[in-house]
Amino acid sequence: MSKIIVLMGAPGAGKGTQARLLQERQNIPQISTGDILRVMKEERTPLAEEVKSIMNSGQLVPDALMISVVRERTSREDCKNGYILDGFPRTAGQAAMLEKLADEQGNRILPISIDVPFEVLEKRMTGRWSCPVCGEIYNIYFKPPKFDNVCDLHPEAQLSRRSDDTSEKAKIRLETYERETRPLLDYYAASNRLQSVDGTRDPEAIYAEIEKIVNSEKGKVKS
Ligand code: AMP
Repeated sequence: MSKIIVLMGAPGAGKGTQARLLQERQNIPQISTGDILRVMKEERTPLAEEVKSIMNSGQLVPDALMISVVRERTSREDCKNGYILDGFPRTAGQAAMLEKLADEQGNRILPISIDVPFEVLEKRMTGRWSCPVCGEIYNIYFKPPKFDNVCDLHPEAQLSRRSDDTSEKAKIRLETYERETRPLLDYYAASNRLQSVDGTRDPEAIYAEIEKIVNSEKGKVKS
């Protein structure tokens, strides 16, 4: 039985950073619904226009679309030994679909919540810039690049910012999270599946704790 590692947490909690580390070091794919949608919204289709306007408003894309995106992506060969979800599920409907999908795939859901206080989240989002070449994430308050606005590893690349990381949109995204997604923590806790880590520490310390959870789970399931 393989695992679906579900990274839970508010926008800015560090799910993307941890998902990237897990992908590199555990050798299972990271599936970020936000990244998939950011690619999708650049296409020239009516659906892309709709996705773009929803994302720009800080609201959530409809469950039906998200569910088909996740179902399709996780059916690929690289997911056969498990995968990491970053940014999904975000609603009760998505969580219900994931239960069904996990059953069908014979996988076990391992939800890990990265806890960060509300005050820190806003700075995490509004200070966030990333490298368009390698995806490395910087933060002007907490982890600035060595030189202003360029990647440490790709000096030819100007860092770019997500269009929904402005302070006005960050606020709406945090409100959406509180309303739609935070209740899922109670849902997973009710079935004793939720594990939580303190997300205020440096990324390597957080990773070490997540890795411990993931590895200790290995002993519990047949591989
Ligand atoms: P993220 O990169 O995870 O912060 O996602 C950026 C935006 O993409 C969100 O603010 C939503 O508009 C949309 N999005 C990403 N994942 C989902 C999801 N599972 N359900 C609905 N909307 C999503």
